[in-house]
Amino acid sequence: MTDTVTDRFLRYVVVDTQSDPTSATQPSTAKQRNLGRILVEELLAIGLGDAHLDEHGYVYATIPSNVDKPVPVICFCSHMDTAPDFTGTNVKPQILHDYSGGDIRLSGNLQQVIRVDEHPALRDQIGNDIITSDGTTLLGADDKAGLAEIVAAAKYLVDNPDIRHGTIKLLFTTDEEIGRGVDKVDLKKLGAQFAYTVDGETAGHIEDETFSADSVEVVIHGVAIHPGFAKGKMENAIRIAGAIIDKLPKDIAPETTDGRDGFIHPTGISGSMEKASLGFIIRDFGEPGLADKETRLEAIVKDVMTAYPGSSHTFTVRHQYRNMKTILDRYPEIVENAVEAIRRAGMTPVRGSIRGGTDGSRLSFMGLPCANIFAGGHAFHSPLEWVSRQDMERAVKTLVELTKVWAERS
Ligand SMILES: [Zn+2]
Repeated sequence: MTDTVTDRFLRYVVVDTQSDPTSATQPSTAKQRNLGRILVEELLAIGLGDAHLDEHGYVYATIPSNVDKPVPVICFCSHMDTAPDFTGTNVKPQILHDYSGGDIRLSGNLQQVIRVDEHPALRDQIGNDIITSDGTTLLGADDKAGLAEIVAAAKYLVDNPDIRHGTIKLLFTTDEEIGRGVDKVDLKKLGAQFAYTVDGETAGHIEDETFSADSVEVVIHGVAIHPGFAKGKMENAIRIAGAIIDKLPKDIAPETTDGRDGFIHPTGISGSMEKASLGFIIRDFGEPGLADKETRLEAIVKDVMTAYPGSSHTFTVRHQYRNMKTILDRYPEIVENAVEAIRRAGMTPVRGSIRGGTDGSRLSFMGLPCANIFAGGHAFHSPLEWVSRQDMERAVKTLVELTKVWAERS
């Protein structure tokens, strides 16, 4: 068995681990355990004697400290599942050696082309070996690149005992893509003080910010009546719902915003004449922005409802997750040490924010402050997903350097 980061990655991506938001079980799909078992075998082979798959499908393992002084226990985390957005069955990874530039047409579906114009990060990959799917499935670099990098870094640390480091915990989760990645994590058993998810994109990036997120459900009760006798009486809940959607601000939508701007996004609609339900997600980097968007949405709903005096509505806000920066700012060493590790691994560190949530944002609020390090993958959740061997190797180097920085600075 070969054990470079790329070899490991190619072994993991062919295992179908798609999660399923409609399933109530944990893990949501039993097949995620198939990869968990492979990972445990590989970790045991490296010499991590406590590696195991728990009853919820998570993998835990420990790289013991080899220094006398106390060093904070840090955890490297990535997720085993792939997104429900696109099939992950029968992945056939392709390697394009020594990429010479230009668009990449995928062999299994010639309509699928990774275009340089749409994927400008390809411009930094000349001469690298680029791994893609054949275009009929996603690749699963999100986040099997992270898994491969963590396992490769663990192997490197075990094989090079002259590298001084504290206790390193490894955690591989299921169901991250459906927002349930850390539901059953046993933080006490894990015993880490700080953590890093290895689940970001571009090499050199470290992220300590996520969106803050709420959902809103609007339920409208209209006035139903036989359409033959409806004049002046009927208030059709479907029409009311349509009027609300029509009044949403078009410049505060996912399709019209980027960077640090949040949005109001309708995610579901169902209804009949007498009752309609609208689902929304609200996103912003700050709590005031989140509250402001919810106020705006409620004002739109109330305004539309004034034209329908016989109808009523409910407006329910549900907390989803919060920007992890509020936690991470209390422990600046988490990001500072990662920035130093990225620099030592030969890259220019870039600090960024995530227009979404991660396992790390949940972990941070559960008591395990957690930033997100690049894994090197691009075009997540799509058949155009790609990652380069060289960027995965950079991530391995970053993780190894990071363990050194923590030990040196403790
Ligand atoms: Zn991911």
